[in-house]
Amino acid sequence: MKLQEHQGKDLFKHVGIPISEGRVASDPQEAEGIARELGGPVVIKAQVLVGGRGKAGGVKLAATPEEARARAAEILGMEIKEEPVRKVLVTEAVEITGEFYLGITLDRAPRMPVVIFSTEGGVEIEEVARTKPEAIFRFHVYPLEGPHPYQIRNVLLKAGIEKGIGSRLFGIFQNLYRAFTQYQANLVEINPLALTAEGELIALDSKFVIDDDALPQLGELAAWGDPEAESFQARAAREAGLNYVKLDGDIGIIGNGAGLVMATLDLVAALEGRPANFLDIGGGASASQMEKALEIILSDSQVKGLFLNIFGGITRCDEVARGLTEARKRLQIEAPMVVRLTGTNEEEGRAILHQAGISPVAEMEEGARRIVELVSNPQSALSGQQR
Ligand code: GDP
Ligand code: MN
Repeated sequence: MKLQEHQGKDLFKHVGIPISEGRVASDPQEAEGIARELGGPVVIKAQVLVGGRGKAGGVKLAATPEEARARAAEILGMEIKEEPVRKVLVTEAVEITGEFYLGITLDRAPRMPVVIFSTEGGVEIEEVARTKPEAIFRFHVYPLEGPHPYQIRNVLLKAGIEKGIGSRLFGIFQNLYRAFTQYQANLVEINPLALTAEGELIALDSKFVIDDDALPQLGELAAWGDPEAESFQARAAREAGLNYVKLDGDIGIIGNGAGLVMATLDLVAALEGRPANFLDIGGGASASQMEKALEIILSDSQVKGLFLNIFGGITRCDEVARGLTEARKRLQIEAPMVVRLTGTNEEEGRAILHQAGISPVAEMEEGARRIVELVSNPQSALSGQQR
């Protein structure tokens, strides 16, 4: 679960990381009121769950309350990377003399959290990694021990941080690690961690991704998720009890069982196809779940073809076939579709599909090959029978 900037900052405050004061507004008048209360210049910031708001024009300075109202009106009318702006954060403008980056995420290869620090804050860390990798410093943390003071000091020394600022940074490293573990995050990021003219450090932005599996343990935090920010597909899948992950390709994938779906993604990718998603209908899926899965995938406008890979164990092939033919009747499916169906009740399943004019394949590799070809070369779909 991704948190909005203001929510992440609330958690920062909770663990003792300094933030600038501010409040959230959903209309321009409200923004003006908050600016007046805060006094002095403010920054108006779009609250959306995508990065690069600054570059997209979603972060603007306002010198007066009237200006705050005007800027808020502009930003509230925007869409940033297709996400409409429904709220803005109105926060005291801070005079900054330097920007750092501090982040903690899971490094899955060594299976440890990694702390990443950079003297080049304010820019996306990926860009710093490309253009100035020598300005990035990192260390791994043994989860049972937490970060050792010498590890933090070592990074600050290597980064050439002077002592006074270093001691404040030291505390922020420790507090951010506390936030990372306490709220069971997969990622926490402060960018920029700003240095003020007075030598203070303030978190001007927050990025916070909480592990969804930890939500039941986090009490009211679980309700912080923004239902409106969730895509239609993600919500529908969650409500139907399907496991769905959006990817950036164009071949929709449906399978039963996470292992089978992952193997399908790998196979399609190895054949140079680009999977559009991961959708696991799970074991024992019913016809109606199958129908729902198809509806979800087809509502993604990037999907140009579908590959259903079903290995019937407790899932019955006839149920899947019934769901599929029902869905086809209801949702005028135009994209090419390839079905691989084997296992429990496969004879019945195949018969149902044949009646509906679909001829399933028996091998997963054959199916993957076929869908990759149909999607990369739509002409071949006309001669193929897999419609
Ligand atoms: P992002 O673009 O989505 O990462 O949004 P940020 O919250 O990081 O804001 C973008 C940039 O705006 C930051 O890197 C800062 O340079 C600048 N910025 C944000 N808040 C302030 C502020 O209070 N004072 C000043 N001077 N700059 C700010
Ligand atoms: Mn930022």
